Amino acid sequence: MIEVEGAGWCQTDNHIVEGMWEAYAPVDLPQTLGHENAGTVVEAGEEVTTVEEGDQVICHPLMTCGQCRRCRLGDDMHCENAQFPGLTTDGGFAEYLLTNERAAIELDTLDPVDIAPHADAGITAYHAAKKAVDELVPGSYAVVIGIGGLGHIGLQAVDSMSAARTIAVDVKDAALDLAEECGADYTVSWIR
Ligand SMILES: [Zn+2]
Ligand SMILES: [Zn+2]
Repeated sequence: MIEVEGAGWCQTDNHIVEGMWEAYAPVDLPQTLGHENAGTVVEAGEEVTTVEEGDQVICHPLMTCGQCRRCRLGDDMHCENAQFPGLTTDGGFAEYLLTNERAAIELDTLDPVDIAPHADAGITAYHAAKKAVDELVPGSYAVVIGIGGLGHIGLQAVDSMSAARTIAVDVKDAALDLAEECGADYTVSWIR
């Protein structure tokens, strides 16, 4: 059980409110949203070994079982018994969140409030950047289209994980300013 200190609002939350996820995961109302969570462990089950009471953790949004075929193949995202707080169970827009051991990753010095949105927005952008970096040898360029909630993190991930020079593209000037702050080598306004 986690005492929630940081909980990010995701575009997916808007989609859940609008009913867009109904076909994939019918929501049983009332439902507490929030899948980008971080906080402090206040209680741990007796078989939990990786975290203990008092540890600060970030919570992976998917609670996986670790025992099904997909989990054993390392393909946790397709776990047959997965739960997703904020969609299939109550999420983190509350004082406390119930999650499982595999989803609780101990934080070292990072502040749970700062880091919470990275539970989803961060890992999503990082995942895309990680796929790209093998191709991004010195002398190459990476174009990041859209410097929003995910894009501004993806831009920084590509910048720090590869030798490529980065080109940030967006329609909004504010987003291009953010891109510059995030280390973009070039910015391009899509519509001028
Ligand atoms: Zn999300
Ligand atoms: Zn599983």
